Amino acid sequence: MENTWNELYNLQPTVMKLIKNALIKDRIAHAYLFEGMRGTGKKEIGLYFAKALFCLNLKDGFQPCEQCIHCQRINHGNHPDLHIVEPDGASIKKEQIHLLQQEFSKKGMESSQKFYMLIGADQMTTNAANSLLKFLEEPNQKTTAILITENIQKILPTIYSRCQHVSFKPLSKNEMIRLLVNKGVKPEKAPLYAHLTNNVEEALEMKEDEWFLQAQKIVLKLYEILSKNQLMDALLFLHSDWLSHFKERSQIDTGLDMLLYIYKDLLYIQLDSDDMLVYPDQKNDWQKNALQVSKEKLANQILAILETKKRLQSNVNGPLLMEQLLIKLQEGSNFV
Ligand SMILES: [Zn+2]
Repeated sequence: MENTWNELYNLQPTVMKLIKNALIKDRIAHAYLFEGMRGTGKKEIGLYFAKALFCLNLKDGFQPCEQCIHCQRINHGNHPDLHIVEPDGASIKKEQIHLLQQEFSKKGMESSQKFYMLIGADQMTTNAANSLLKFLEEPNQKTTAILITENIQKILPTIYSRCQHVSFKPLSKNEMIRLLVNKGVKPEKAPLYAHLTNNVEEALEMKEDEWFLQAQKIVLKLYEILSKNQLMDALLFLHSDWLSHFKERSQIDTGLDMLLYIYKDLLYIQLDSDDMLVYPDQKNDWQKNALQVSKEKLANQILAILETKKRLQSNVNGPLLMEQLLIKLQEGSNFV
């Protein structure tokens, strides 16, 4: 897996600047703590950093060549001086840290340094954490450690205080859309996935998920019926199609989000903000509706959906909530 400087810089500009500076000034900390949500590029940037440290032909002092033996071995996941530790089952165990220490007591096999990444560092057992602590305090050769976590509050203070803390920001919607399109998602579909998740892999799974594809059709169909002011038909459709598809609370919530984005799109069409559209491929069909409905009515419809989402959290009667919502959407009146 290769990631160029530019790609990673677009993903996490602050982090990449920090790494560039560290490399150029040759001020590499012994240990870093990479913290941020899933899918924000922590592991990818960790591997880039490793390549930059091992690379034989570093460009401009911070860009690995991707050609030398070290770069290639890291890209292929078989560099002898780079170790990646991940939770074995539910936790990272003491034995795993001991194995790592044994590896590190040997000399670098192909270089004069060692690099390790601990993925899920918050999942270390107390014993593992204590072993690691000693290791962090007494590195016996040039060693760089990257601890990766999605739960910074679960990292022991003793470990936290020995690492340089690097915070990864959630991806912006635009960046997420760009990445998805790069990975083969149709440009007109990417915005919806980017709105439903912050995680590229999760979005790619959604794209293949039959439930999710069906969900999109049902939501669009429901809106189509509502837009024709056919409340009875909408209620019938609710019972014949919607309720049997959106059953669990999380599913209903996803359905409501998808519906919410439709009404927001109508607002954006009114505002001529095409770049904000979640369903750009529906624009032509919706344009007429969007121009006929008042901003006030749209705002009330959006509020009604948000209110339903809120009520859903404390009320398990999904069908009743949905019936009430459809009536409110049809009236466009305030929900309260
Ligand atoms: Zn190289």
